Amino acid sequence: MRLSEIIGQPIATTTLARAIETNRISHAYLFHGEAGVGKETTARSFVNHLLCETRQACGSCSSCQSLKRNNNPYFHVLETDTSIKIQEIRSLKRDTQFKQEQYNVWLIKDADKMTLQAANSFLKLLEEPPEYVVWILLTTNLASILPTIVSRCQVISFPRLSDDIVRKLLQEKVNNADQSKIDLVARMARGSIGKALDLWDDQFIERRNWVVKQLVKLPTMDIPQVLGLSLTWEEKRDLVIRDLEQMLEWYRDLWCVKTKATDSLHHIDYLHELSVTCEKYTKESLEQITSLIIEMLTYLNRNVRVRFVLGHLLLQMRKGALA
Ligand SMILES: [Zn+2]
Repeated sequence: MRLSEIIGQPIATTTLARAIETNRISHAYLFHGEAGVGKETTARSFVNHLLCETRQACGSCSSCQSLKRNNNPYFHVLETDTSIKIQEIRSLKRDTQFKQEQYNVWLIKDADKMTLQAANSFLKLLEEPPEYVVWILLTTNLASILPTIVSRCQVISFPRLSDDIVRKLLQEKVNNADQSKIDLVARMARGSIGKALDLWDDQFIERRNWVVKQLVKLPTMDIPQVLGLSLTWEEKRDLVIRDLEQMLEWYRDLWCVKTKATDSLHHIDYLHELSVTCEKYTKESLEQITSLIIEMLTYLNRNVRVRFVLGHLLLQMRKGALA
């Protein structure tokens, strides 16, 4: 893919295209921004230009062809589920010490996952970069990268995409005419096409409706029913995290309806249910529940037991409702 074909990150793509045109390529780039906003797509496109025989990402020269087949000998990807260890940086160092006559590019995903030892070893490489080696580091967490590494890279930031761009990209990718689902998913994805595609593939809409149904019923349930609900809730952490994110939006929406600030509701398709349910809470209890959900989300991200979080949260949500 050519840089000019990438949608939604004009600053990054014009900066990189200009580097290609003027042949001023840095040794190291650091792309940072949230997941799913186009960092890797842009990095791969940049690599495509760098390694292409015409520098145009022509798609047909032997280098472009081998990139497409994922076996271009001058492009390497370092990625990990756990952490990037010093051994991996050492082998990267071995592979880059031979003199090259053309660009040799390393894409290092989740660069923030380097152990301190690995980061220090990488820093040494950056201090004396071998000729024709280009590193592209990706991260969603700039603050976790050693400042000494950051200062030796060309840092390029990838902001969230606008809802319109997410909608447009989603429409292209899913090739589906269900406009209301596209609108809904684009709004829920908060500027990330990656997240939008995840939401699209999942049984997300059905799940969302199910969660709303429980939240509407909750204020009129008795305590044993609430406990029963928390015990039958599916105990998958990722799913529950998303459910809680939705609950957060639901209670924010309730608060907005209560205070008559209804411009940007997430559950715009549940206006009736929102206005009925908001009568069951005071403004203060809506605020308390909102901060409790945020607190429970941080617990879930810290591996606290899912069942415990759900039980506590649903009970407090019920208790916060007016009798
Ligand atoms: Zn080419």
